[in-house]
Amino acid sequence: MSNLNGHFDVIIIGGGPGGSTTGALLRKYNPNLRVLILERETFPRDHIGESQLPPIGRVLHEMGVWDKIERHGFPIKLGATYTWGKTISPWTFGFIPDREIPDSYSRPGTFEGWRQRVSFQVDRSIYDTILLDHAKELGCDVRQAAKVKSITHDRTKAGKRVTGVELESGEKFTARYYVDASGNAAVMRRALGIKVDAPTLLRNVAFWDYWSAPGMNKAILEKKAVRIQIRSLPYGWVWYIALSDDRTSVGLVCNAEWYKTCGKRPDDLLMESLRSEATVWNLIKDATRKGKLESTTDWSYVADETCGENWFLVGECLGFADPILSAGLTLTHTCAQHAASTILELDHGEEDAAWLRREYNNTQRRRVIQHMKFAEYWYTGNGQFSAVRENCAAIAKEAGLTMSPEEAFRWLSHGGIDDHVGQFAIGGLGLSGVKSVQMRLSHDHAGDVTYTIDGATDLVLNLRGATRTDMAHPENGRVIRLPILERGKSRVPLTGTYAAVVEVLKRASTVDMVLAGLQEYARRHFATAMDARGFLSSCTQSMEALASQGWIEVRRRPNAPAISLKTPEEGEIVYSEEKGPTRVDRGLI
Ligand SMILES: Cc1cc2nc3c(=O)[nH]c(=O)nc-3n(C[C@H](O)[C@H](O)[C@H](O)COP(=O)(O)OP(=O)(O)OC[C@H]3O[C@@H](n4cnc5c(N)ncnc54)[C@H](O)[C@@H]3O)c2cc1C
Repeated sequence: MSNLNGHFDVIIIGGGPGGSTTGALLRKYNPNLRVLILERETFPRDHIGESQLPPIGRVLHEMGVWDKIERHGFPIKLGATYTWGKTISPWTFGFIPDREIPDSYSRPGTFEGWRQRVSFQVDRSIYDTILLDHAKELGCDVRQAAKVKSITHDRTKAGKRVTGVELESGEKFTARYYVDASGNAAVMRRALGIKVDAPTLLRNVAFWDYWSAPGMNKAILEKKAVRIQIRSLPYGWVWYIALSDDRTSVGLVCNAEWYKTCGKRPDDLLMESLRSEATVWNLIKDATRKGKLESTTDWSYVADETCGENWFLVGECLGFADPILSAGLTLTHTCAQHAASTILELDHGEEDAAWLRREYNNTQRRRVIQHMKFAEYWYTGNGQFSAVRENCAAIAKEAGLTMSPEEAFRWLSHGGIDDHVGQFAIGGLGLSGVKSVQMRLSHDHAGDVTYTIDGATDLVLNLRGATRTDMAHPENGRVIRLPILERGKSRVPLTGTYAAVVEVLKRASTVDMVLAGLQEYARRHFATAMDARGFLSSCTQSMEALASQGWIEVRRRPNAPAISLKTPEEGEIVYSEEKGPTRVDRGLI
């Protein structure tokens, strides 16, 4: 691909998942764009961040790279197994109920059915190489061993503007747009003097290494797939991420203040914690350690500004919450998809440019902050952290987290809505998953985890004070406007199940009429009974999220048909290891 004397349409700094996703999508939708990706390292190189969440699949599929990832045979990830919360025995959560995973299937598979709702655990040295090669195949000019040394910039009325990049080799390049996807190096963000905010009390540090042995992960295979293993210790937690049958990433996360006072060397601390965790130790004790201890800290932040006149921050340089949610790559891939669509939309010139940038900034910042809050909630709910309990209590108090599970859910559902537009989702969990996790973490808080709409006989739509506006939604390389209702911080996208619920509730309020309305809607929109059932279950989730945020007023009349929804301790999505999954029917009666 030619460039005009070092001038490109888009220069991307960093060839990790953020950079390669942005580049691949730009070229997919506009093959005339001249896109340069500058990567400091020569791939393959190891990188932390190996355990994924299901929303990544859609982005990989859109990029046209899902089949390549699948062909490599990375372990399929079904969910996670934890010791965390109010009990010390392991419990499991699944992205989908176990019964939906076939006992036998062949690989490579295709991106359809249950495979759309689970994810991978990836060896980043291979994964990142496949993605970067894919971006190159789509026509990006990819340069490895090309470290960006400096960024030139100036200021216009519109704010900060980037004017060029210079490599360590002395080469200089210019572009119409610049994307910083350099991870925590954040080359452009730092050069532009953009501050980061840490609206969180999470201050953690991680130490990790890699272990290999033929067949070491056979022991944890379930239906030929795996779960990330997370084990609590009194002072932190250990991860065990199977990257293949033979190779595993193993690490420790602990509170940075506690680490400073513990008086242990990082390697001794890591090995001591692994030896103290019998499940993990049994899996690695006979394996060979790579022997290159790695560490990182200070990862919980969000950039004050995420885009400007001709620049965008993408992925970890924009912000990250905490590894406990395994959500970093999900935030990165979806952020890159949004950045690429926004640049393409700006080039079309048909949309209000200020609105596009504002939406990018607000959406991406909100997502990171939302994940920080979810991570804080997760940490404060761990009764196993005896050595850091005081710190957890402080986190809880300062973050306003001395709340009942019900209140916590109400708070979680703010912004959780648009993780997957039109459906409730946060951190890879649907609503019943979030509720079940709350059950596990609810020991310190008063009150049961209940559904706001449980026992409702009437659901009355409350749109008082709401305004109708739009939110940006990246789709097929464009940014489309989705209508939303907005009131304070709460937003309801008028799409998917939310649109159906609002439409039906405008006409009906008694639950029998609401159910009839939703069934009629399902008949009109879905061909199969299974799709219709899935839709009705999503409607229940949407109604709960709407009720918890005051969009629906719940009434209970005696002797009238009522909704019955329970939050069981054990279910299909979250269950303890000894009991295994149990089927719980919930729904509208
Ligand atoms: C302890 C820990 C555990 C984590 N675990 C998980 C997990 O289990 N699951 C998950 O989804 N996420 C996890 N994450 C987050 C995940 O690592 C990141 O979200 C992800 O790597 C971000 O991708 P990125 O492309 O933005 O940045 P990166 O993957 O860091 O890529 C940035 C690229 O930029 C290059 N670069 C840097 N400086 C320059 C320069 N000057 N010039 C040119 N190139 C440059 C780098 O070499 C690198 O290849 C974890 C993070 C931490 C800290």
